[in-house]
Amino acid sequence: MSEKTVAAISTAQGEGGIGVIRISGDDALEIADRIFKNVNGRKITEMKGYTAAFGKICNNGEEIDEAVALVFRAPNSYTGEDVVELSCHGGVFITKQVLRAVLSAGAVPAQAGEFTKRAFLNGKIDLTEAEAVIDIISAKSTSAARAALFAKEGVLRKKINSVKDDLLSLAAHLSAWADYPEEDIAEVTDDMIFDTCNKAITALEKLLSNYDSGQAVKQGIDTVIAGKPNVGKSTLMNLLSGCERSIVTDIPGTTRDIVEDTVVVGDVILRLSDTAGLRETDDTVEKIGVDRARKRLEECGLLLAVFDNSRELDSEDIELLKSAKNVPAVAIINKTDLKQKLDINYISNIISNIVYIAAKSGEGHEELVKAVEKIAGTENLNPSEGILSNERQRLAVSNALSSIKEARDALSLGMTFDAVTVSLEDAISQLLELTGEKASDEIIDRVFHNFCVGK
Ligand code: GDP
Repeated sequence: MSEKTVAAISTAQGEGGIGVIRISGDDALEIADRIFKNVNGRKITEMKGYTAAFGKICNNGEEIDEAVALVFRAPNSYTGEDVVELSCHGGVFITKQVLRAVLSAGAVPAQAGEFTKRAFLNGKIDLTEAEAVIDIISAKSTSAARAALFAKEGVLRKKINSVKDDLLSLAAHLSAWADYPEEDIAEVTDDMIFDTCNKAITALEKLLSNYDSGQAVKQGIDTVIAGKPNVGKSTLMNLLSGCERSIVTDIPGTTRDIVEDTVVVGDVILRLSDTAGLRETDDTVEKIGVDRARKRLEECGLLLAVFDNSRELDSEDIELLKSAKNVPAVAIINKTDLKQKLDINYISNIISNIVYIAAKSGEGHEELVKAVEKIAGTENLNPSEGILSNERQRLAVSNALSSIKEARDALSLGMTFDAVTVSLEDAISQLLELTGEKASDEIIDRVFHNFCVGK
């Protein structure tokens, strides 16, 4: 690899116990030797891979910091190149000083995501695994991190490759059979083509059907908590987020604005907004809140519609139920510790998912978690089976699926095997693009554009 040796601070910019400066490329070991004085005198270039040394970082003869140097030798490193990681003290100033020393010793600054890009270009990982690296870093819940780790370990790559390999064998067989009729190549039967197409269609459809649930785990669902004043929205929000964020009062209309919060409910991330009630009001400030609440409600991915068990159903509740018809919703009957006056039958005729809680004491919390998981479809989501992580991946799978269906249709309509082959080849290219084996520079750049420097 003739790429230049690059370096960057790989830990977050801030004060911490340690800060890591990563150097990768052909000259990584020599460059590290120019600035690192090992306490035992041994040079980094003489060290084996997967070994460490303690020493001082020096720039122009001046000691900057103490550090541990970790040596990785190609191809057994993150990038597949020679790599040295210098773990120094984790200060913003000191890590910059060490990086500066590394750069003046001959490295060039790494671009955003360059280490991972090199790992991809050196064949250590495919594009889905590279994208999983970002997902691991940005994971906000155990399930999201778990799903990303499975992808990083190649679960999705293997699944895609298995579909792709079947299609490739079929396309190759079809071409060979058509192009060399005089050779003794086994006949391709319609059944063979149908079987391969159907198997691929099933696998890709499964991936697509899990996409939304996977996004609920990874990105979260835009969730609105709505209900008339005093039903207990703020109390519910506090219960879900485990801290006193919203203002809980007995005065109707106190929650005037939309409070944003992210909570993890079971496997699902909810991006919550605790909205104002939907009642008619002359108060200008409250009216702005109510209008915004209505808009959010129309656009949300999940509505938690809260009702007060101790009060009779009124026009405001009915107004909320009307909105609930158009979005996925859970009806939350709150204050079940108080005597029931609410007409729950009326509600259950409109919203089938009903949960009974007492937000104040936390009673019914688990049922709410189950209801949310059910509606988000994460109940049966198994990250070890591979989950598509983003829109790029979803689109490639969706396009591949259409092409395979076209191939199958071409066959059903009695078209030539050539027509079938063309569609199969389209599907194969989509899958090659997904894994990055045949992706354009533009696509690759776009993937790594989302990375931070140092990763
Ligand atoms: P919001 O206006 O919908 O945000 O309602 P709040 O969360 O501010 O709650 C209004 C009042 O109802 C507060 O006094 C809460 O303590 C009370 N409250 C909330 N949940 C419950 C509950 O489960 N049981 C009872 N008895 N009171 C509750």
